[in-house]
Amino acid sequence: MSTKVMAVNAGSSSLKFKLYQMPEEIVICSGIADRIGHDDGIFKISYDSKTKKKVIPLRDHRVAVKLLLDALIDLQIVQSLSEIQAIGHRVVQGGKYFSDSVLFDLATAEKIESLIPLAPLHNHAHLIGYQAFKDALPDTPAIAVFDTAFHQTMVAQDYLFPIPYRYFEKYDIRRYGAHGTSHQYLGLEAEEFLPGVEHPRVISCHIGSGASITAIKDRKCVATSMGLTPLGGIMMGTRTGDIDPSVMMYACKMTGKDVYEMYQIFNHKSGMLGVSGISNDTRDIEEATEKGDERAIITNQLFARRVADYIGQYFVRLGGADIIVFSAGIGENSGYYRQLIIDEIKDALGITYDKEKNLPLRGEKALISLPDSRVKVAIIPTDEEIMIARDCVRILKL
Ligand code: ADP
Repeated sequence: MSTKVMAVNAGSSSLKFKLYQMPEEIVICSGIADRIGHDDGIFKISYDSKTKKKVIPLRDHRVAVKLLLDALIDLQIVQSLSEIQAIGHRVVQGGKYFSDSVLFDLATAEKIESLIPLAPLHNHAHLIGYQAFKDALPDTPAIAVFDTAFHQTMVAQDYLFPIPYRYFEKYDIRRYGAHGTSHQYLGLEAEEFLPGVEHPRVISCHIGSGASITAIKDRKCVATSMGLTPLGGIMMGTRTGDIDPSVMMYACKMTGKDVYEMYQIFNHKSGMLGVSGISNDTRDIEEATEKGDERAIITNQLFARRVADYIGQYFVRLGGADIIVFSAGIGENSGYYRQLIIDEIKDALGITYDKEKNLPLRGEKALISLPDSRVKVAIIPTDEEIMIARDCVRILKL
C-alpha cells in the first residue's frame, strides 16, 4: 500500500521539506521556508512541475510549518493531512546514543538536547522543527535520522583521539563524523557499478561546502574524516579540516584573539576562503585560477592534496578499494576539481579515467573510470532525503 512520508531538515533559520509517496519513492512536493525569524521570510514549494514562492513574515518555525501544511491542502497536494503517515527529521548530532534512526519521542528529544554542546546551532534547530510539527500534527509519528548514526560502526582505533582516555570516558570526546546519511546512500548506490563484488569497498567523497570522506566495507562505515565536530578532516569551503592543534594556541598568542574567536575563524574564515582570500565557492576560485591568481592556484593544490591524502589513507585502511565516489556540490558538479583530485591519486592507485567525459559532467550518475582502471571512479548525486523517507517506512513498518 502506498503511503506519504515527509522528510524534514530544520536549520536555525530554514526548514527544508520533501514529501514522498512511498515505497515508490516518488517526490510529491518539495521546498523550503527560509529566513525564519524575519519579516521578509521566503516560502517556496514545488509540485507537479510548478513552483510557488511568496515573501511572508516567518516569525518562527511554527509559523513555517503551518504555512507548509496549509499549502499542502490549498494546493490540493493532499486531501487531508492524515494522509501523511510519518515525519522524518534530519538530526546532525546523535553522539554515542544512536547507531540507527529511531522513533522521535520525548526520550529521543532529551538525548538530542543533551548533545546540543556538540552541535549547538543544528541540534537546537532540529528540536524546534520537531516540536513545530508535533504541535501541528500531534498524532503523526516522527522519526529521527542522525548524520552520525552510520559512523557508529567504527572501532576504537578509528574513533579515539590520542588524548587522555578519561576525556573520552568522562566527556565522550571522540570522532563522531558527519554526513553519515549521505555516505550510507552513496555506498549503497555505488554497488550498481560493482556487479558480482561480494564485499564492496567504497571510498565516498561527499565534497561540498562542508566535506567529508568515508571508508565503507560491506555497507558499514570503517572510518570517516570529520571528527568530534564537522571541523575535522579535509580542507573545506571555510573550515580548516585537520591541523596541528598547536596552531590554535600559537595563533591566539600572536593575534591576541581568544580561543573562541579563533575557533570561529577556523570554522568560518579558513579553508578555501582563508587560503585563497577570494571565496569559499570553488566556482570563484576556479575562475581566479584561470586568470593566473597564485593564491587561487595554491588553494586548489592544497585542497586536492588534502583530499588525496585521505583517499590514500582509506585505500590502505580498506586493504584496497573497489570504487571511489564523488558527490555533493563540488563532487557532483565540478569536473575541474574531480580532475585535480584524481590526478593526485591515479598513479598510486592504478586509476585510468576518461578526462573528456569527466570534465563537463554535472549532477549525473556516471562512471568516469575506464575498464582497465584498478579502482573504479564514479559520480553519484547524493540523496539524504530519500534515506530519511526509507527509514520512516522501515522503522514504522508502513
Ligand atoms: P553544503 O551542503 O555543505 O552547504 P553543497 O554540497 O551544496 O554544500 O556544496 C556547495 C559548494 O559546491 C559551493 O560552495 C561550490 O564550491 C560547489 N558548487 C556548487 N555548485 C557548483 C557548480 N555548478 N559547479 C562547481 N561547483 C559547484
